[in-house]
Order: sequence, then C-alpha cells, then structure tokens
Amino acid sequence: MKTSTTRRAILAWIAAAPALAFCGRALAQAKATKAAMKYQDKPNGGNECDKCVQYVPGKSAKAPGTCKVVEGSISPKGWCMAFAPKPKS
Ligand code: SF4
Repeated sequence: MKTSTTRRAILAWIAAAPALAFCGRALAQAKATKAAMKYQDKPNGGNECDKCVQYVPGKSAKAPGTCKVVEGSISPKGWCMAFAPKPKS
C-alpha cells in the first residue's frame, strides 16, 4: 500500500471517530420495551423489581423507579422476564 493511501485511510478513520463513538453510545443506552420484556405491574411469585439488580429506586420505597434494561417508569412491585435477583448480602 502506498504511504499516501495509508495516510488518507488513517485520516478518514480519525474523522469518523466522533460519529462512531456517538453510535456506540446510542446502542449502549438503548433499552428494551416493556412489551418485549413482558413487563407487568405486579410481582411474579416472590420476584419483583425492587429485588432485581437492574432496578433503580424512585424517591421513596413505593414510588416508581427506573430500570437499567427496560424503558419507562417501573413499579417497585413490577416484574419482567429479565428479572435477576440481587445477590444476598
Ligand atoms: S429487569 Fe425487569 S424485573 Fe428487573 S427491574 Fe427491570 S423491569 Fe423489573
């Protein structure tokens, strides 16, 4: 490969880096829909969002929070198929 071609290729990659970084962040932040994860506002047996590692609590124990993997407002007493129990301390 010629030096000028290599230099042009490197410069093209450097120019594209911000766009690639933006796409990567957008993909990393994408969350699943409630429907896709079969989310429900009630527990499934003893499993509920406030016992899940993905749950981010709201302002109080009973207030809705958010989830790291499912979009929208999440009930602490909800559940979805991505439920993953918090490790016991
Ligand atoms: S992954 Fe599912 S069960 Fe866990 S907090 Fe999110 S919505 Fe609730």
